[in-house]
Amino acid sequence: MPDFLDKLVGGFNKGVAKVSANSKALLEKQKLNSTINALENERKQLAQQLGMKVYEQYMDSDGEVGAMVFTDETAEFVNEIKARLEKIADVRAQIRLVDEAVADAVAAAEAKNEAKTEAKKQREAEAIIADEDMPGVICVCGAQNQENAKFCAKCGTQL
Ligand SMILES: [Zn+2]
Repeated sequence: MPDFLDKLVGGFNKGVAKVSANSKALLEKQKLNSTINALENERKQLAQQLGMKVYEQYMDSDGEVGAMVFTDETAEFVNEIKARLEKIADVRAQIRLVDEAVADAVAAAEAKNEAKTEAKKQREAEAIIADEDMPGVICVCGAQNQENAKFCAKCGTQL
């Protein structure tokens, strides 16, 4: 995992706001996208230069297409173009990783929050639910209320 993703996910677990993780990811994606743009420009320039080489061969051959050959020079251009295309695919994969890391971090944070809320609810319910030996009024919902209570503290039913 790239360094910044570690920080991204790590920071998230420490409770850094979702907004902060998203803006870090956005910055990283902007950087990756500008890398793609630069590679695309190089690829276009190489293709233009290759076209010029082919055109020069055509002119040198007095317009005979059959005289045009695939030289080491033109092969070099083709290889350079291929290399740019492969790099572009790599950077696109990195962008997908960023998106996945953000989605994972958000899901993990949400699951953690949900578990916390559930545990809190459980504790509250247990605190209210009665011990039948205790003095007081027990509501139809099962909650223990103080002896003089007019309404149930848990469900609000009149006692
Ligand atoms: Zn009740």
